[in-house]
Amino acid sequence: MEIKRKPGFTVREVALATFWVETFGCQMNKSRSEHLAYQLQELGFYLAEGPEEADIFVFNTCAVREHAAERAMNIIVKFAQEKKEKNPDSIIVVCGCLGQLEREKLLGKDEKIDVLAGTHNWGKIPFLIKKAWQEKVKIVDFQEEAPSLYEERGYCHSSKISAYLPITFGCDNFCSYCVVPYTTGKERSKPGEIIKEELMNLAEEGFREVTLLGQNVNSYGRDRKEEAFEELLLDIEEWLGNKKIWVRFLTSHPRDFREKIVRIVKDSRVLCPYFHLPLQAGSNKILQLMKRGYTREDYLNKVNLIRQSIPSARIGTDIIVGFPGETDSDFQETLDIVRKAQFDVAYTYVYSPRPGTAAYLLEDDVPLPEKKERLHVLNDTLRNIYRGKLPSLQGKVMEILIDRKEGGLLSGRGANNLRVYLREPCSIEVGEWIEVVLTPGEGNKVYGSVKK
Ligand code: SF4
Repeated sequence: MEIKRKPGFTVREVALATFWVETFGCQMNKSRSEHLAYQLQELGFYLAEGPEEADIFVFNTCAVREHAAERAMNIIVKFAQEKKEKNPDSIIVVCGCLGQLEREKLLGKDEKIDVLAGTHNWGKIPFLIKKAWQEKVKIVDFQEEAPSLYEERGYCHSSKISAYLPITFGCDNFCSYCVVPYTTGKERSKPGEIIKEELMNLAEEGFREVTLLGQNVNSYGRDRKEEAFEELLLDIEEWLGNKKIWVRFLTSHPRDFREKIVRIVKDSRVLCPYFHLPLQAGSNKILQLMKRGYTREDYLNKVNLIRQSIPSARIGTDIIVGFPGETDSDFQETLDIVRKAQFDVAYTYVYSPRPGTAAYLLEDDVPLPEKKERLHVLNDTLRNIYRGKLPSLQGKVMEILIDRKEGGLLSGRGANNLRVYLREPCSIEVGEWIEVVLTPGEGNKVYGSVKK
């Protein structure tokens, strides 16, 4: 949207200021940015066409990995410098996990930041931005305790097809390497009636897929009932069962992932058979040091259960290599489980110690070259597994939802999250479902031709 301002008008006097939110990190952070954007619009600000045009530039940061956090800090400092040179009236806002965790570092790093906030005062941030904008003041605002309820509502969705819908926020697990419980606070679940209203609205608005989000969706409503997540899934099936819409969920904690969830997804018309189950490590010794609460045997049992119950299901995971104390034989156990689980998707990382976590107190004793070598071997193994599975897709028919058009090439994802590219030009539009016949192509891509 182009905003035309009258000549000679002082932008701070009226609410015609534009904003842009840049997000680092996970889907939860992206969704929080969508919530922040919604709140800023409610206050009268306009979403800018792009980062260059924005009067107010917000960085919603992530602190999960040391390297990414350092990189984010450097990007922020450089961007703030350039932005202020071009537009001295602009304001820079830094919020999110990095703000919550490393405020001292950020304060010392850049005097060009106008608003510095964290995660626990999320609902207040739009008002802080408004104040900073109107009164030309610098604001540093933090709340030490997370709110006890999770009732954030309203999102400015960045897609017209797919929407994120958080159902829980925060985490009680305290895995020994993870900062998330410190930056997000105790787990709190969104009330079911709010989820119902939000889901029904998304369906009415024509969204084709919704991803339920939470640091651990399986523990949704645990404070009220042990199997509240299963109940929510059954409710969703009932609310949406007569509509054409797909519902996904992320992330499942392997400890809390229960057999009943698989059964519900198997029988469902709307729930998608993609399961993201972060393994993190394949050796029981390391899993214990990570405080993950399951063994390699438990994990494999759950993977086997999914594979046997829903053969078309795909399973994704996250893996960390080089955790303190990880020997080569521990790493071999990770490779072993990777081969047995035959993962379809994997996000892999080198361990980096994060201040304040329990693992920070452990000696980071795997040398960096060794960590990198293990990562390399792991990624090679995963790639080979993925490629080895591709021929079995040949000739299979799958329904996909077209959600991208890049350089004239349409692509979409199946319910099981497999991305499929359409080779031939066709009259299909983004947002349509079609049936395709699959053909594995060059590289790791899977192609599809429209089923006649
Ligand atoms: S479950 Fe563990 S890894 Fe996941 S957010 Fe919570 S503490 Fe972090």
